Amino acid sequence: MRSIFVLIDGVRADVLYGMLNEKSLPNIRKHIVERGVIVRDAVTVFPSTTGPAHAPFLTGAFPGPLNMPGIRWFDRKRNNYQNYGPLAWLQFERDYVGPGAFAMNTDMSGKIPTIFERLKDSTTAAIFEPITRGAKFIYPPLANVMAKIFGPLRAFTWEHVDALAARTLELVYRCSALVKWMKIPSEPPVFSAVYMPGVDEASHEHGPLSENTRHAIKNVDKQIGHIAKTLIDLDLYDETSIVISSDHGLRPTSLHFDLSKFLTTVGLDVRTFPVTFLQGLGEFDATVAVSGNGMAHIYLAKEGAEDIAYPFQYIKHDWSKKPSLGDLENYRIRKGHVNMIDLVSQLLPIEQVFASENKATSHVFSCNGHGVVKRKGRNDYSYDVVRGEDPLGYAALVEEGKIAYGEWLNDREWLSATCKTEFPDAPVQIAQIFESSRSGDLVLNSRSGWDLMPEIPPHKGSHGGLHAAEMKVPLLVANSNYQAKPDQPLRTLDVFDILLS
Ligand SMILES: [Zn+2]
Repeated sequence: MRSIFVLIDGVRADVLYGMLNEKSLPNIRKHIVERGVIVRDAVTVFPSTTGPAHAPFLTGAFPGPLNMPGIRWFDRKRNNYQNYGPLAWLQFERDYVGPGAFAMNTDMSGKIPTIFERLKDSTTAAIFEPITRGAKFIYPPLANVMAKIFGPLRAFTWEHVDALAARTLELVYRCSALVKWMKIPSEPPVFSAVYMPGVDEASHEHGPLSENTRHAIKNVDKQIGHIAKTLIDLDLYDETSIVISSDHGLRPTSLHFDLSKFLTTVGLDVRTFPVTFLQGLGEFDATVAVSGNGMAHIYLAKEGAEDIAYPFQYIKHDWSKKPSLGDLENYRIRKGHVNMIDLVSQLLPIEQVFASENKATSHVFSCNGHGVVKRKGRNDYSYDVVRGEDPLGYAALVEEGKIAYGEWLNDREWLSATCKTEFPDAPVQIAQIFESSRSGDLVLNSRSGWDLMPEIPPHKGSHGGLHAAEMKVPLLVANSNYQAKPDQPLRTLDVFDILLS
């Protein structure tokens, strides 16, 4: 079965499903819903952000094992930049916001094949999608650049980008045999990934529940209509499966906490993204990498901050060494020592702080509680509260008998038990992110309403964290051999199997 995967960036499940119920998305209703299944509880991955959250659809793996734990990250294993010279930043840190996006294909673990690599004997196409490893035909998102430049003038908007993505697919299908020199395949692709960024842009600028966002979703609906018409005209409609999903939802945001600035005031030299030229010159005690603006990795030098501060003296940390949990609880800053975990988890804008003790054990801290996630074998997880209130708020589930603290469940059981809570699938998601050596010593989920980095203009929607608003995504499967059921919870990783079925 041929398949087309349409990734609508940043569309919330409740918003899209609500609009379907209101009958304001006629094309998605006709071509997808009436020929398929709406999965009620589909969750994305942590971090719920563009880039790392694209990869599960196209590889079937979590961002942790793929070693892509954020839209921005720092690689402490590659040690410090002074050994690399002026191009150091290409080696040990990444910012996928901008041209860094082209590095995703090589950053992702080569051991895990992409869907394009799995289908290497067939024609495949990646349209505006940044993850393209193994794709036969790649259409890079140049339209995004136009939207960035002409967006403020409203001459070329993000909705035009989504329309252009659909038109490119149409061109690829309709003109297959015509113009080889234009890099058009000679037969319609067996698999195409089509990326539409418009909804995410509207959500950040105007809020995920805004009229502008609904307008952008209606525009996507129109594009689905065009894609369906192309398939009907070419007599491919009945032999093509169409899957629609999203990499994350968004939560409305009105408050912006400058996490990097805060750590500077504590007495640390902080390197933060986007890295400026001046920052690139000095050493640093800490690196802050914010994703989707609702989650962040904090990387801390094992030795802590020296008493004499930059710029009068260069400090050279050995970044290949990682501070232990004990080091973090008694961490050297300029004027003494501080418990970094307490310091950060007590901040109002922070919902939870995650830290890894070893391969099998991760910790969850909130302002008034401490939980522990353990992993056994390949696929069993337990979660227990060791102090205060449950930082994941699962007490109600325990009361209902759905889970018990300290009990071992497999990943499917965790997903089913927790998919309707404020932090769906959290134990599994926390365990997987720490599989990446590029994850921070502290990983933060911000409180609802807050994000961790100011932007101009201020964002009205954020994501990256573990809240239901950002983790729950729509998943619609039309005309597939895969027996998806509406009431069976799925992860976006499972879409990989759906697309290959
Ligand atoms: Zn996104």
